Amino acid sequence: MNCKKDRTFFALNKEPTSVVFCFYFSIAVNSSSVYLDSQFAMPELPEVETTKRGIQPHLEGRVITSLIVRQPKLRWPIPDEVVSKTIGQTILGVSRRGKYIGIHTAKGTVIIHLGMSGSLYLVEKNTPPLFHDHVDIHLNNDQWLRYTDPRRFGSILWHEKGSDTTNWLTHPLLINLGPEPLTDDFNFEYFNLKAKGKKQAIKMFIMDSKQVVGVGNIYANEALFLAGIHPHKPAGTVERKQFMLLVECIKNVLSKAIEQGRTTLKDFVGGDGKPGYFKQSLSVYGRAGEVCVNCSSILEETRLGQRSTVFCPQCQK
Ligand SMILES: [Zn+2]
Repeated sequence: MNCKKDRTFFALNKEPTSVVFCFYFSIAVNSSSVYLDSQFAMPELPEVETTKRGIQPHLEGRVITSLIVRQPKLRWPIPDEVVSKTIGQTILGVSRRGKYIGIHTAKGTVIIHLGMSGSLYLVEKNTPPLFHDHVDIHLNNDQWLRYTDPRRFGSILWHEKGSDTTNWLTHPLLINLGPEPLTDDFNFEYFNLKAKGKKQAIKMFIMDSKQVVGVGNIYANEALFLAGIHPHKPAGTVERKQFMLLVECIKNVLSKAIEQGRTTLKDFVGGDGKPGYFKQSLSVYGRAGEVCVNCSSILEETRLGQRSTVFCPQCQK
């Protein structure tokens, strides 16, 4: 079975017809899908990957000339080493693991998590900070890397350098992470084995970063719909064929979202700077009470792990 053929990503190229603004989400609805403008949404793996790709070419090879911390109280306090060990250091590389971005220097790695509302982007030097602009990293080309986070659930941490640049992967927050969903390490055999005998709901299982990283709530909803699996189904009872399809659908929804993010890479530099992330078309997330894009049933909503869970009672078994 093929995820793409089975249930198409509906209306990917259609323009939204109307816009409804909510507090965190701005959602545009047309006849067959929802577009999530994630400007105000929680950054998930595709947004973090897009952020990494957006800032990477402007950082690598640059020297950190100074670092301004206006608000150290993020999810955890920003450690002093982030300032004391990085000034004068050349940025050797930028990488991503799960939803963490690593900015590597010869002394160690600055580890950044965007939390629920964080963003990273480049501004021209001396661009005045706004209220939620908590950290600026000054570079030797007159650009500043700015960290903005209205809700302050993000984090900026330090990991001392070991013998090579992969050393940051041994940080306590990263060491137990499951495989990256878009690599070959995340495959049917691995995932099926992990699920064996598990009574946990399949949606909770795929959102567990110890099993696989980066499948956030939106993508879990979408992937389960595309694979035709009921979100409450115990992980250990999902049939082999369904599991195979689910792995394919997870890879597909995430890579489609990253592909859509390519159009926004220019937003990470210049102007008033803040990246808008990108609009995505969604089949079930945010559409409870509306008609299924695949059949005429009404989409239902439940809560799983206190997160909105939307599914089609007809298409998902
Ligand atoms: Zn349906």
